[in-house]
Amino acid sequence: MRLEQALKYFFAKTSTISDSPRATASDALTGTDIMAAFGLADSKAGFGFDLFLAKHGISGPELAVESLYQFSLTQVGKSQSIANLAEDTKHIVLQTLATFAFQDYSRSAASVRPCECCNGKGFIDTEVFTTKVHTPFPAREIVKMSLQMEVKGFKPSEYDVHRELREKVKVLCPTCKGKKVLSNACRCHGKGKVLDKDATEKRGGIPVYKDCDKCDARGYSRLKFSAVMAALNQQESGIGKTFAYDHLHPFMEMLVAQCHKEESLAETMLGMVTKGDAIAS
Ligand SMILES: [Zn+2]
Ligand SMILES: [Zn+2]
Repeated sequence: MRLEQALKYFFAKTSTISDSPRATASDALTGTDIMAAFGLADSKAGFGFDLFLAKHGISGPELAVESLYQFSLTQVGKSQSIANLAEDTKHIVLQTLATFAFQDYSRSAASVRPCECCNGKGFIDTEVFTTKVHTPFPAREIVKMSLQMEVKGFKPSEYDVHRELREKVKVLCPTCKGKKVLSNACRCHGKGKVLDKDATEKRGGIPVYKDCDKCDARGYSRLKFSAVMAALNQQESGIGKTFAYDHLHPFMEMLVAQCHKEESLAETMLGMVTKGDAIAS
């Protein structure tokens, strides 16, 4: 059983999930088997499980972020610049990096984020100019005037007053088209591959694909480090931009990479457990 398959169990408790590569109908894993398998695999790769479950919204992110923070404490010696920070600053920095590293890890092409343009409201306030028209004369006056001037081709509308009005109105957010959220999928539509135009031409139009360089074949756009910077500023960490980009950015990349590593470890553990391979502890 793979982690992704295990997800179904959390979402639909009545379904029976089988270990597809080798299971026959009688080998189908029951809910109890799965819980047992999870418990066992979890004891071997708890961090990865926490990450995976939080990524899919099955558990809250607190546990995963806390584990990541604890992990960052063990790694801080590898960056002398971070290790040398004052204790309270270091705490803010590592907490922030762990939080954002988790967010980056949990992005996938299928995930969405609140629209930055409208702050997740779906609408934005905008100013529009409208022209209001009104006639300066009472109706009776207009009738009188038109009777008097009938011959000359009097047009009451010629006396209308046009006023340009500036109004604040709510319009559909142009970025998310009112959906309130934006997809994290890259312009390659989450495939991580794009058409290689040159190679395709050389091969006489037979489509050749290459890794999407916008997302490094991930299929989703990564969290921008400027968001981390903004969070650090908000907490008055006193961390400068150069320091952040030189030292914190690579450290955070390492944390994100660790998340992916822990998840594949959990995947391996679950695979081993559900295939009945006993793991010596
Ligand atoms: Zn929007
Ligand atoms: Zn892409």
